[in-house]
Amino acid sequence: MYSVSAQINAISLVKIPLLPAPKFGLDVAAITSALSSDPDIKLIYLCSPGNPTGALLNKEDIKKILEHETWNGVVVIDEAYIDFSAPGSSCAEWATQYPNVAVMQTLSKGFGLAGVRLGAIFTSEPIARLLNALKAPYNISSLTAQVAERALGKENLEFARANIGKILEQRSRLVEEIVKVPGVGRLRGGLDSNFLLVEMLDRPGGKPCNETALRVYEGLAEERGVVVRFRGKEHGCEGCLRITVGIEEEVTRFLAEIRKVLDGVFKADGHLPADEEEKREVEANEVMG
Ligand SMILES: *Cc1c(COP(=O)(O)O)cnc(C)c1O
Repeated sequence: MYSVSAQINAISLVKIPLLPAPKFGLDVAAITSALSSDPDIKLIYLCSPGNPTGALLNKEDIKKILEHETWNGVVVIDEAYIDFSAPGSSCAEWATQYPNVAVMQTLSKGFGLAGVRLGAIFTSEPIARLLNALKAPYNISSLTAQVAERALGKENLEFARANIGKILEQRSRLVEEIVKVPGVGRLRGGLDSNFLLVEMLDRPGGKPCNETALRVYEGLAEERGVVVRFRGKEHGCEGCLRITVGIEEEVTRFLAEIRKVLDGVFKADGHLPADEEEKREVEANEVMG
């Protein structure tokens, strides 16, 4: 979406890929040198935790960018998924220390209120003044404001926290269970959000494979009504699906469905399910003595 927004506003982009999985950290050296050599860069967008990486960016890395010696632009930190990260992960309080940081959060994810269309920015006074000037004369709708006020009241805040807690429990469960499914590879990225980035393989015990990932995505969506995201085309995400953590029943259903779909894919390709393959290998070894 950042590049879509840039295009709509006729703004050119400099893309700097994250470091390889599973860390998906900032390439501070590459960012620093881009900022030193291109004085036209005005804004940096960072996403923490990242989508689809699910990994928080290292705060010390972000500080190095904020404290760049010559560059004089604004660092935007997108924290849409921060409510699923460990306490203390947000950079929001930096708004009181750095004049050039803007931290964005939203009610769309942790609060489950995407339809309300409301977010918040934590930033320094001069930037806040600019944003308020941009907003005028059309303020946030009173309906949105009412819902937001209620959502952020004491009782509903506790309700949201309890829901997030349940999702985090299911995240731990999904992490543990998903890698046991034959044909599922490594967990990529981090455990800082409400989704996992997981590799699909070309056969049980094989290599990451976009074709399998696409077939699993389609099989789940078209035949079983379970929607995940194919992310195999993203930088460093070969064979990856992005799987959102749901409530207990959804995770149970998802695990059963993905197992069946992968089994179907491998059977269609003539690959035996992993346990079968293992059995045959053991038998073969026994025969060979
Ligand atoms: C969902 C999301 C947002 C926020 O979306 P809104 O619904 O417009 O608040 C921002 N960044 C990322 C990476 C997201 O996934």
